[in-house]
This record gives sequence, structure tokens and C-alpha cells, in this order.
Amino acid sequence: MSFPTEYKYVIIGAGIHGLSTAYHLAMELKNKKAGSGKDILVVDKGAIGAGASGIACGVIRNNYYQPAMRELMAHSVALWEEDAEGYGYHPVGYMQISPECMHADVADIYKQQNEIGYESVFIEGKKDCLKYMRDKIFHDWQAKNITSVLHEKKGGYAHNTRSLYRLADKAEAEGVRILTGVEVTGFVTDNNAVTAVETRRGNIECDWVIMGAGPWAKSFWDMLDLPKEIDTKGEDGKIRSLPMWTYWCLVEGTLGVPPDYAMNNEGKMPPVIHIDTDAPLYSSEDGSLITNELWGIYYKPDFNFGGVQGGAAPYIVEGDVKVDPYGIDSPDFTVTPEFVHMWTSALAHCQKRYEGKHHLYKNEPSGGIGAFTPDNFPIFDVMKQNCYMILDSNHGYKMIGVGKLVAKEILGEQQELLKPFRFDRYIRGELHPVSNSPFPWS
Ligand SMILES: Cc1cc2nc3c(=O)[nH]c(=O)nc-3n(C[C@H](O)[C@H](O)[C@H](O)COP(=O)(O)OP(=O)(O)OC[C@H]3O[C@@H](n4cnc5c(N)ncnc54)[C@H](O)[C@@H]3O)c2cc1C
Repeated sequence: MSFPTEYKYVIIGAGIHGLSTAYHLAMELKNKKAGSGKDILVVDKGAIGAGASGIACGVIRNNYYQPAMRELMAHSVALWEEDAEGYGYHPVGYMQISPECMHADVADIYKQQNEIGYESVFIEGKKDCLKYMRDKIFHDWQAKNITSVLHEKKGGYAHNTRSLYRLADKAEAEGVRILTGVEVTGFVTDNNAVTAVETRRGNIECDWVIMGAGPWAKSFWDMLDLPKEIDTKGEDGKIRSLPMWTYWCLVEGTLGVPPDYAMNNEGKMPPVIHIDTDAPLYSSEDGSLITNELWGIYYKPDFNFGGVQGGAAPYIVEGDVKVDPYGIDSPDFTVTPEFVHMWTSALAHCQKRYEGKHHLYKNEPSGGIGAFTPDNFPIFDVMKQNCYMILDSNHGYKMIGVGKLVAKEILGEQQELLKPFRFDRYIRGELHPVSNSPFPWS
């Protein structure tokens, strides 16, 4: 097949957002008798899953302090459930285990989960939390300073590569063409509309461009000449100029125990564990104090990574950031000895079975870079008249449903669930509430 010079819809990026949009747009076009998958081209400079989606730890949760995020996540979880087998989705549930300084925030989350019919259980008080964790989940649970446990019965995690290929298969079955090894270098514009996508192999004229840009959000933002700093209205009503993009490094790793070692009291897959606590964290290697400030980790047994896989709070990357060596083979810039020490000690803090196991840490590349917006929440919006940008601020593997909503918007149906994520929320001062979590994505 020759290189295309024209397509009605060009989607850049074969990650979770690009592929979900491709498939759902094909379905929308078919259902509305407004075209078909044959009108859609997906291009990726690498391969399917070459970006963040191919390396995500795959956690799917509803636990967000921001109501708009919770509603969006509930929508996405419903999509994961629709084809759980095909996407490799494991609905094992998710737990947010917190200290007193987060108690009120998490109580709010639980309340709204109830209101929107998202099933969860909320345990309060030190004694009851410990009892719940030991009786229902892990008999060797021992984390300190925990005063609330939110147990989401839905959510869990999915096998990232499997879900991406499943979406790609579904899209191709509808006639979508997916071209890998095609790098986008710029856009041809006319009167503030994109008329063609420039690639190293030639220009492709189009009516719509859709981007699932992942950590490359800034490159596409720059290609479209969008502002490097943006005006944002604060709670005090004052306007401040903030840098549009900040890079955070997500630190993750795997402890090389057999995944079966990490099962729950019944020998089954436990929920994904996310714990934050202000209990002092001591080294499981030498007993030294690692931190006495709020810290957090997440983990799950994982047959794909071959052990207990998870991570800790990310950190901001200053200076020049190379997003390009991103990919399953090369994000080796993230794992530091400090992370390994902290994370393995934190596992031992939580469960006795991980004491003395730090030497089993698997020294493999893990983690990666995320491009974050000024308030660390996604932007889903049309820029330059016909350029739909899915800028997920690194929240996104779990958001498989966003592509379905974007597809509807492209065909003219505005979606309530996406409205809180428009670009003009910054200048309007309609920002999402900020929680007390040490993670920028909670
Ligand atoms: C270590 C890590 C763990 C994570 N864990 C989770 C998790 O557990 N749960 C969760 O929900 N989210 C998680 N995330 C976030 C999630 O992975 C991302 O938010 C999401 O995958 C972004 O999807 P995307 O489709 O926008 O981008 P990507 O998957 O990054 O896809 C973008 C694609 O664009 C292509 N591309 C880039 N530049 C060009 C160009 N110039 N021309 C053509 N193609 C180009 C790339 O090759 C890439 O394939 C994690 C992220 C990281 C880094």
C-alpha cells in the first residue's frame, strides 16, 4: 500500500488514547452512517505501545479527590468491564490506605463514590483499619499510623500491551489503518486550522487531527505554536503566568519474589495497594531513618513483570528533558538506589513477608517520564479549530473511555464528562480541587 496523502481523520499516537479514539470513532461513524473506519489513519513514530501506555503499571482506580476525575474514571471502568478478557483487565479492586491528615479527603471520595454508584467500603479508626487489613486482605499487614481504608471493589489493573493490541485489532477490523514508523514533524495550517500533518515520509492532508501525545505533549504543543506559559486565575482572583509543561519522573520497580508470594489470605490476587502514611519510614536493610515526612507507595503482584511491581511518589525533572529515549527498552533514567532503598523498606513497613527481601529487587529498567499540565490534570480540548488534543497529564492508561467521548465530540456531540477539562479553565480559575496526597495525580 502506498503512503497516504489524504485522510479525513489523522490520529497521532498508537497509545491508549489514540487507539481508543480510533476504534470508537470508527464505531460512531458507522452507527451514524457518517463514514467508517476507512476514513481514519493512526500514525506513530514508533510502534503500538511505544510510549507511556506500553510501560504503564496498568493500575485502574476511581480514587480521586476531584469529583470530575471520579466521574470520568467510573465511565472508563465501565469500558474496561465491557471487554475484560480481551483487554486483560483484572478487576481485583483497589485500596487507598491513609493517615489522619488524608482522612477527611478520602471520606469525601467515599461519599461521592456512593452517590455515583461506584461500589466501595470505607473503614475508619486505627484499630478497625488494622483488623480489616489483617482479616480480609493480608494477615501480616503491619503499616503504622493508618486511620482510614477505602476499598474500591471495582478497578484493579490491566495488562497494558494486551489492551493496546486488542484496541488496535478492533480498530483495524473496522477498517482503520495503523501506520507505524511514521514521525510527525509539524503541521500545515491555514487561517488557524490544520490542513495537513507533516511527516518525514510526506504530508497527509486531513479535516481533523487527534493527538494522544502522552509524554510528547509539549512537542506537539510547540509544533502548533501554542503558548509556553499560560495565564491562570488563582483562588484569590489574581492572574499568574505558569509554565505550560512540567516533567515528572515516575519511579517504579519490581521485587523479584514469585507473584504467588504476594497473594491475599485466601491465596488469591489481592487488590492493588496504595498506601500513604506519616509514620517514620526506617530502612529494612540497616534500620536508619529514611523519612519522617508523609510518604506513599503502591504495589501489586504482577505476572507480567514477574514479581511485586509498583512505585513511589514521582519527582520533578528540572532542565532539559529527553522524552525521546522513552520506551520499554530505555527508561533507565528513573531507578536510583535511593528509590530501591525506600520502596523495598516501605514494602517491609507494610507487610512482614517483605522484611529482609530488599536484595531481591530486580535491577531492570522501569518507570518513565510524564508531561504534566499547570494543575496536573488533563486537558481534552480542540485547539486550532480542528486539532483535538488529548493531553492526559499522565493520568491516562486507566482512561480507556476518553477516546469514546472524544469520538462523540469530534462528531459534534459535546460531552459533559469532558467539560471540566477544557483549556480555558485556567484563565477562568475553574481548577480542580487539590488533595492532601503526596502524589500529584490524586
Ligand atoms: C512509569 C509509568 C507508569 C504509569 N502507570 C500508570 C498506571 O498504572 N495507570 C494509569 O492509568 N496510568 C499510568 N501511567 C500514565 C499513562 O501511562 C499515560 O497517561 C498514558 O499511557 C498516555 O497515553 P497516550 O496514548 O496519551 O500516550 P502514549 O502511550 O505515550 O502514546 C503516544 C505515542 O505517540 C508517539 N509519538 C510521539 N511523538 C510522535 C511523533 N512526533 N510522531 C508520531 N508519533 C509520535 C509515541 O511513539 C507513542 O507511541 C503511567 C505512566 C508511566 C510513565
